[in-house]
Amino acid sequence: MQITVDTGSCVASGQCVLLAPGTFDQDEDDGTVVLLAPEPPEGEREAVRQAELTCPAAAIRLSGA
Ligand code: SF4
Repeated sequence: MQITVDTGSCVASGQCVLLAPGTFDQDEDDGTVVLLAPEPPEGEREAVRQAELTCPAAAIRLSGA
């Protein structure tokens, strides 16, 4: 699984960080998503899928298995 994020679309809702804190963080200044791990830790894969589905800005894209 490979993750890409579109920081230009991100609306800083923080949902992804709540779901998968080992994979996503938020910028200290504007709250937009910061990708910590382009390949998520094994234990966070399902949470990352949830983040993709629930991101209000559709700013998270997944590719690969
Ligand atoms: S859930 Fe989407 S809009 Fe919210 S911080 Fe994460 S990437 Fe940005």
